[in-house]
Amino acid sequence: TLQGKTAIVTGSNSGIGLGVARELARAGADVVLNSFTDRPEDHALAAALAAEFGVQVRYIRADMSNGADCRALIETAGGCDILVNNAGIQHVAPVDQFPVEKWDAVIAINLSSAFHTTAAALPAMRARGWGRVVNIASAHGLTASPFKSAYVAAKHGIVGLTKTVALETAEEPITCNAICPGYVLTPLVEAQIPDQMKTHGMSREDVIRKVMLERQPSRQFATVEQLGGTVVFLCSPAAEQITGTTISVDGGWTAL
Ligand code: NAD
Repeated sequence: TLQGKTAIVTGSNSGIGLGVARELARAGADVVLNSFTDRPEDHALAAALAAEFGVQVRYIRADMSNGADCRALIETAGGCDILVNNAGIQHVAPVDQFPVEKWDAVIAINLSSAFHTTAAALPAMRARGWGRVVNIASAHGLTASPFKSAYVAAKHGIVGLTKTVALETAEEPITCNAICPGYVLTPLVEAQIPDQMKTHGMSREDVIRKVMLERQPSRQFATVEQLGGTVVFLCSPAAEQITGTTISVDGGWTAL
């Protein structure tokens, strides 16, 4: 059980981040939810999680494209035992036409934010004598696809950051690992299915199997619950000697 631990999950008002936050709350951790918005529904999400699992849940607005905001998130939380760097965006374009501002935003949100939050969180972890850093990378942290230069560069970068932080904390009760999901069924992905069905004139099942999961040998999406479960595992005593590595949750994608 993670009772008494405080977990901060960046980019957690939807998708994988919210799924990870749920599983951490289910395991007994107090949770800090985050995104760049500050809407009533963001805070309502925190209240609902708290009520469901009987833990403390707060929503703290911070824009992960801004280094000072990243550090302020950790300071405002007032403690951090588990840091999950999950916030991420995608942009798809050929490298010679890739908009510079999109490149900068992808690198800032998907890579630099983890540098800032980790730098701010390590002193707190050291002070309390325990810590877990889990970076949500991607199959694209280990392999590439065309037209995703910024995303692939950022995800390879976060795998490198993961290894370096692991070495710097190797003799301490702190670990740092990356999870590399393949295609995960999030609301964002679900919303693309009807369009793809129209475009390809295919059934839902065929769009999923033949278009979306073409590179995922299991032909099944990973789920946000499975990713949350992997984070909880990395926080468990069984994972104490797992550090500086990647865990793929990709149905065999990177085995191809
Ligand atoms: P999503 O769009 O549902 O969630 C992204 C989260 O990041 C949201 O909560 C969003 O509000 C937040 N966010 C975006 N910009 C932000 C900013 N500037 N500051 C703070 N928060 C911000 O997407 P998702 O699929 O849940 O992706 C989560 C992570 O998982 C990303 O790092 C993504 O690269 C990675 N990932 C997703 C998949 C997949 O198939 N869905 C696969 C591999 C890796």
